Amino acid sequence: MERPRPRVRGRLSVVSVFDPWGSPLCTCPPKYSLNPYTGCSHFCLYCYATAYIGVRPSTPKRGFRERLLRDLPRLDPRFHIDVSTSSDPYPPEEERLRLTRWALSVLLPRGFRVLVITKGSLVARDVDLLSRGNAAVTITVTTMDRGLAARLEPGAPPPRERIRAMERLNAEGVPVGLRLDPIFPFLTDDPDSMREVLEAARSAGARFVVVSTFKARPDGLRRMVEAFPELEERYRRLYRVEGRWQSGYWYLPLPLRRRIIEDARRLALSLGYEFATCREGLAHLHTAPTCDGSHLIPRRVQSPRLSLKAEPPHGKPET
Ligand code: SF4
Repeated sequence: MERPRPRVRGRLSVVSVFDPWGSPLCTCPPKYSLNPYTGCSHFCLYCYATAYIGVRPSTPKRGFRERLLRDLPRLDPRFHIDVSTSSDPYPPEEERLRLTRWALSVLLPRGFRVLVITKGSLVARDVDLLSRGNAAVTITVTTMDRGLAARLEPGAPPPRERIRAMERLNAEGVPVGLRLDPIFPFLTDDPDSMREVLEAARSAGARFVVVSTFKARPDGLRRMVEAFPELEERYRRLYRVEGRWQSGYWYLPLPLRRRIIEDARRLALSLGYEFATCREGLAHLHTAPTCDGSHLIPRRVQSPRLSLKAEPPHGKPET
């Protein structure tokens, strides 16, 4: 069956209709995607976006502000906007450039529904905007082990800082969810490791979790085995020999994926989470109404209020 798609009036410039690369395993609801930045200074070893654009620091999209303002009247407000899907909206550069903050200040007062997806604890800075608009935030935490996180996600804030950001957002009424995504065999798939993340995020107010196993693109797999040479043989066997290539990724063998996901599900449900998976083909295990957490987005602002002013631009001109 064809996926429903948001209607677009005319051509979009910087917003795009979310298209998960044609993956038949994607269960996301129809939505838009907005990336204020190209590249990502979090430099996660496992990043899939580098297969398209290489390893590059976060750089503002050229003409981002003008292009977003041009796109607004062309968007169908019934569909939410993910910020962001192929780069992080809160890299370290955002502290100075405030581009994501500016985008929120344009979108939220107009009633657009926004789902922020990030590893950046800087998201808590924008709690004033997020708590007044139709916004929810999902924060990725793959491990609570600070040292391991620093190896996997060298440019991202330590896990505790991300949990503190969740706490702050939740305290101010912003719905928060956890992305335990991805889970790495032999590194973070131990139930104790998953429990530690799930408990920390639950205590910080997360009530939804989406999990996935590490799906490898060739460059991501190479970076992982270079950083963890002790895993090289096992990863090559699991992904390249016993796993299978699907929709642009090597997947782990299904019995292993199922074991990891079912462990995570058991833990999550025992802590009272709504549970979903991301592109695993295991949607029958979901208890959450959506797999991306968009059901968390409240409906606080009902109608466009076009007279509201955006934040003044900050930082250097975009490149
Ligand atoms: S935060 Fe996301 S976009 Fe940025 S490097 Fe990590 S996986 Fe890639």
